Amino acid sequence: MTRKSRPIHFLHNPKPETLPENVGAFLRQLGGPTLIVVDGRDNSRCRAIATLLHGNEPSGVRAVLGWLRSGERPAVKLICLIASVHTALHETLFHYRQIPGQRDMNRCFRPPFGDSLGHVASHFIELLEQYRPEAVLDIHNTSGMSPAFGVVTYESSVHEALVSLFTRRIIVTEFRLGSLMELSGDQLPIVTIECGGAQQPEADQTAVDGLQAYLFNDDVLSLTSGLLLDLYRHAVRLELQPDCRIAYADQPIPGADLTVCLDVEKFNFGVIPALTRLGWLGPRGMSVFQVLNAAGENVLPHYFLSKFDRFYSAQQLKLFMVTTNPAIAQSDCLFYACAETEHEQIRE
Ligand SMILES: [Zn+2]
Repeated sequence: MTRKSRPIHFLHNPKPETLPENVGAFLRQLGGPTLIVVDGRDNSRCRAIATLLHGNEPSGVRAVLGWLRSGERPAVKLICLIASVHTALHETLFHYRQIPGQRDMNRCFRPPFGDSLGHVASHFIELLEQYRPEAVLDIHNTSGMSPAFGVVTYESSVHEALVSLFTRRIIVTEFRLGSLMELSGDQLPIVTIECGGAQQPEADQTAVDGLQAYLFNDDVLSLTSGLLLDLYRHAVRLELQPDCRIAYADQPIPGADLTVCLDVEKFNFGVIPALTRLGWLGPRGMSVFQVLNAAGENVLPHYFLSKFDRFYSAQQLKLFMVTTNPAIAQSDCLFYACAETEHEQIRE
């Protein structure tokens, strides 16, 4: 394959005055997946950012644009992938996570790389090998209202230090889905930052504040001593069967297999006691979903139970990544859950 046909375009040291203030205009100017390369005060080192892997998650690209327009030079060389530009611009700005019929971009970072999104993923993997950044941040928004949190597939103080630039909440996930952070290791720490919901102004601020530290601090790999972190391990995913008809309402919807309480996102990161009602079931009961651990085992009875067509927590839980978007609930999962005993606080 010739270099010309590679999917990621390059933009080197863009001049602030050439960049529009409006993020939609900026994305139209980029025109497709783009790697922005900005020289730092110390170009012998490099850090990387990926953002907009999901087209409806704008906090990261907004923060990057704000910084680029400031013209402020970063501590080290910075490479920044603005990934799903086409998806973000598809029909309505920032409407689609992925273009209907296409794969989820953050499930494409493992073979096969045969389709157009796989080409973007494999090209970015090559660029990471070429630039050898000391760290990679992948900046997202949650699909529902949520406080900010980080996700890692690899536990180390370096990973925790990177997340702690943005938030104290860290989920250690054993799930392997083909996401960018799964390429993480000691030599290449990669963390996912979920800034909070795309509609929440505080999510944009979280992205700006964390990015500020990442860009300008000389050291981003050392954990601040005395920092209190909330670590969550051994999460499970509630996944719907493909034919499950889901609804969100404050009463059971006739014809729905699962009606989820309309205000379910209020449970994000809150402790929910056993026997908290989460929704209502249709005639097929709980057979319309499964609760999978990272080994792929259905562990539903440990986490949820049904009584009189209602659907409850079976023990004290923390839920996170709760979505109220039925398309995302269908294609990905309704939420993640941790047993409260798996939640611990550590002090470094
Ligand atoms: Zn995302």
